Amino acid sequence: MKAENKKKIIKTIKINVDKCNGCRACEMICSAFHAAPKYSSNNPARSRIRVIREPLSDIYVPVYAGEYAAAECAGRDKYTIDGKDYEECAFCRASCPSRSEFKEPDSGLPLKCDMCEGEEEPLCVKWCTVDALTCEEREEDVEEEVKVEDIESGLASMVDKFGLQKVMDTVARLSKIDG
Ligand code: SF4
Ligand code: SF4
Repeated sequence: MKAENKKKIIKTIKINVDKCNGCRACEMICSAFHAAPKYSSNNPARSRIRVIREPLSDIYVPVYAGEYAAAECAGRDKYTIDGKDYEECAFCRASCPSRSEFKEPDSGLPLKCDMCEGEEEPLCVKWCTVDALTCEEREEDVEEEVKVEDIESGLASMVDKFGLQKVMDTVARLSKIDG
């Protein structure tokens, strides 16, 4: 049985490091949006975006929280920007055991950017007044997985209606055509 094609909206946040001034409004609004209850507090340590700062070199790099990693990876990244060395893994997006970034401070549970689910525009983008963060949307075709339960209940109702033998013959015929 063929999967159906569906349209999916893909959001991309573009980061322009040259425009970031390190104000940390993005961290504030992200942590406030995800507080429970919403907007009851703000704490950058709970934010899903962190701004890696080097004020003396005037460099600020916003980094979004990505996937959870159960174990440290075996490779390391080390960046030098404008002559300043950054710590290993400084710009990594993973919530990983080797560092404290992107972990909920009380529980230690991993944090991941959810694009402010339910909001029309990501709030960090909205609050970044200098346009260091901008959001783009595009439509993509995706194949929708057909659920096994849906197939089973569909087959059961066909068996009720047409009888087991007829359904089996039809499935055998279709599988020959698909193959
Ligand atoms: S709100 Fe914009 S300018 Fe301020 S720290 Fe975040 S990305 Fe940088
Ligand atoms: S898009 Fe939303 S969840 Fe993701 S970092 Fe920005 S404010 Fe936080």
